[in-house]
Order: sequence, then C-alpha cells, then structure tokens
Amino acid sequence: MPLTISQKWVGNFFFRASYAMVGVTLMAKLFGTTGIRKVYGTEFDLEMALNLGKALGTYLTGGNAVLAEDVRTTSRMVADSLSAGLLSTGTIVTRAGMLPTPTLAFTTMTRGFDVGVMITASHNPPEYTGVKFWSKNSMGYTPEEESTIEGIYSSHKFRVAAWDQLGSEKTVETCVAEHIEAVISRCDAEAIRRRAAKVIIDPGNGASCVLTPYLLGNLGCKVITVNGQPDGHFPGRVSEPDDENLGDLKRMVKETGADLGVAHDGDSDRVVFVTEAGQVVRGDRTIALLAAEALKASTNKTVVTTVDSSRVLDETVERAGGRTIRTPVGDIQVAMKVRETGALLGGEACGVFIFPEFHLAPEPFLAACKVLELIARKNQSFGEIIRAIPEYPLSKTKLDCRNDLKTHVMAALRESLPAAFTNVADVVTVDGLGISLKQGWVLVRPSGTEPVIRITCEGPTRQRVQTIMRKAKAVVTAEIQTAG
Ligand code: MG
Repeated sequence: MPLTISQKWVGNFFFRASYAMVGVTLMAKLFGTTGIRKVYGTEFDLEMALNLGKALGTYLTGGNAVLAEDVRTTSRMVADSLSAGLLSTGTIVTRAGMLPTPTLAFTTMTRGFDVGVMITASHNPPEYTGVKFWSKNSMGYTPEEESTIEGIYSSHKFRVAAWDQLGSEKTVETCVAEHIEAVISRCDAEAIRRRAAKVIIDPGNGASCVLTPYLLGNLGCKVITVNGQPDGHFPGRVSEPDDENLGDLKRMVKETGADLGVAHDGDSDRVVFVTEAGQVVRGDRTIALLAAEALKASTNKTVVTTVDSSRVLDETVERAGGRTIRTPVGDIQVAMKVRETGALLGGEACGVFIFPEFHLAPEPFLAACKVLELIARKNQSFGEIIRAIPEYPLSKTKLDCRNDLKTHVMAALRESLPAAFTNVADVVTVDGLGISLKQGWVLVRPSGTEPVIRITCEGPTRQRVQTIMRKAKAVVTAEIQTAG
C-alpha cells in the first residue's frame, strides 16, 4: 500500500527525529568530502546502491530525478540498481546516460529536476565507484542533506510505493548539446573563432570525451585529442590531472606547436591547462588570472577558494581590488560559501572553477573558453599571459594512514606540528591543520576519500619549501606510527 499523507508525515517526523541519533554514529560512513566514494565489491555493492536509491526516494517522497553515470566499468550497473530503488518509492527517473558531472548538475537546474544523481568516483582509481547528489540550483548536496539521506539509509525505513504507484523511467539524450550551447552563449565566441587556436585535449578516457572536443571544435579551435576514448579502465593515464600524470599531453602540446593543452579528471569537473611550452599551470594561478579579469568588469569583489590555494591568489585578487575568502577543501564547500556571500567567482587549486552567474557546480568548460578568450583578446600565448601570475614553489605529498587513525593523528598534530617550527605566524583550523610561517605555510589534511593524510607546503624559494616539507613529513610520519 502507498503511504497515506498522515503516515508519510509521521514517517518523516520519525526519520528526522532519529537522524540525530543515527546520524551521529554513522556520519561519514557513507558520505565523504565529495559524496560517496568506495571500492566496488569490498566497500560498496549493488544492494547499497539499491538502498541508497530507496533512501533518496523516501527523502524526496516521490518526485523527479535525473540520473547519469561516468565511464567506469561499474557505473551503469550501479545506476541501474539505484534507479530501481528510486522507482520503488514512486520517483520518476530520467536516465541521461554517460555525462560529465557538471552537465548532470547543469541539467538538474535547467530542466527543473528535484534531484540530480551522478554515479561517479571522480578521479579515484578505476576500482572505485561513487554517488553524488545535486540540488535544483545545480549545487551539490550539503553535508546536512547528505546526513539526512544517510539517516534514512541506515534506518532502512523506506517509502514503499504500491505496484500501480511505482515510478517510471524516461531517457533524455540532449544534455551535452544543451550544455555546450549554454557555455558558448557565455563567452566571446566570435573572438575565440577568429583566433582558431590549436588545442590538444586530454579527457583522460573520462566523461569529457563526449563534450570538450565538440565544444572547442564548435568554437573554431583546431582540436586534437589524446586519451580521447571513454574507457573505465583509464588505460591512458591516472585520472587525476596532476603535472606528473600529464606527460603525453605536455609533449604533444610542445611538439605539435599547439596553443594550449586542456586536461580533465575522470568525471570532468576539473580542468587543468598546459602552456604552449608544455608546462602545466596550477589551478590556483588560473583562478587568479580569471579572477583578475572578472574583477575589472564587476562591482562584486569577492572570490572564494579553499585553504590549499597559493597565496598568489590572495595577492592577485587584492591588487585587482577584491577580497578572498577561504573555505575547507571540496567544491561543495566553495559553492556553499559562494552562495552565502554572493561571490563573483569560486575555485579550487586542483582545477575547479565556479561561475555563480551561470550555475553553482564546477564549470571546467566555461573556464576553458575564458582562457581561450583571453588568448584571443590579448593576442598573446597562454604562457605569456599567465606569467603575470607568479608561481610560488609548492610541494605536496601524501602519507598512508588508516581511516580509523586519522582523528587521533590530527589531534596529536595540533600540538606537535606547530612545535616543530620556530617562526609560526598563525595556526588555521578551517580545514585540517594549517600553519602560516613568516616565510611560507604548511597544511596537513586527512583525505575524505582515501586512507591518506595530505601535506602541502608553499614558500618563497624551492629550498625553503623543501625544509618545511621535510619537517612536516617527519612529524606526521611519527604521529601515524605512534597511533598505529
Ligand atoms: Mg572530479
């Protein structure tokens, strides 16, 4: 029998009251920094996907969902299970097929779905699967919304629709075309077309295979792809678009005399650019560049970024008359702060760009167009343009640390890490443990998605950065060993 209104109300009341208890003990078991990311088979299975669909449908009390998946070998199967769960609660499910994550988020907003569901583990290794939910305003679910879903999931008290009240499945096939059209309408398409830049695109065998080459082709660019076939084994390279993983792209840009290299992660919510000389430009420098341009033409002066971005971003934004606000790591944290402050632009150093006037999800495609627009308008190479934003030496590393030890290790570091440095200017705990030094800074964060602790250091010289990293690494390693 379908739930009656009063039963539904009582049910919802019961669920919401019980989240407080259930949520506290189970929080973070399912959802991490960015939705759910788990190893398929050992940490996540189809029954969990089915129940997650039931939990979401219970939360929505029916409604309309749009569901898409990335290229992973497990994604379609997980999407099928999650869809079954949604249908069993009476939710109508529109299947959008394989899409970049931002396209799913954009579609959720423009087509007015109650929720967007993306089956993806972003840039994690191929054995991972994951799920991320998106709101009507194209913002990812907040930690509070995720906690509510997790509470329903854990309670196993799901809405059950009768045989004649089940949801139905539909399909939509035009999401990519609609997204491309919207991106083109927000950039100076004529300038980009006149410049006809030669661009090498490396989608890393991920979801952007279906979008970026066509978008830039439409804008008159001479497009060449590397790792351009969708493949969930990620045969071409590691999915994270870091400098060390982009060797093929860097070589191709340089050797073919291209103007720009463009690389994405597996689900294509990140973009990283490579200069004509084959140099990978850090995301925070590109955010600084686009922020400086945007600030020239705007009365809105706020730029939002995460704790791990370079100080060059603050300096550039200040010079352009703006101010920078820092948030914990994660694109949802940036999006939440962008919405709260009505900011002009948001971004993360890993290659996330948020253009709030467009929507609140990461928008790597418009970022690529904005970079091409600058190349066209300034009639300079990207390498020449980005030179205006200095690169401060940065060092990153990650140390293995079991998830159950992280809290203890971080608590211990609160004492031992500042004590290891003699010139501490400030201790910042917006996210993880950040220590500002008189020359440079160090940030130690437990990963929300992997069993590692990450250390990032920045300083005025390479030697200084190495010294900071050596000290930090020694202290963190010692605390992990003590805890284990
Ligand atoms: Mg991603």
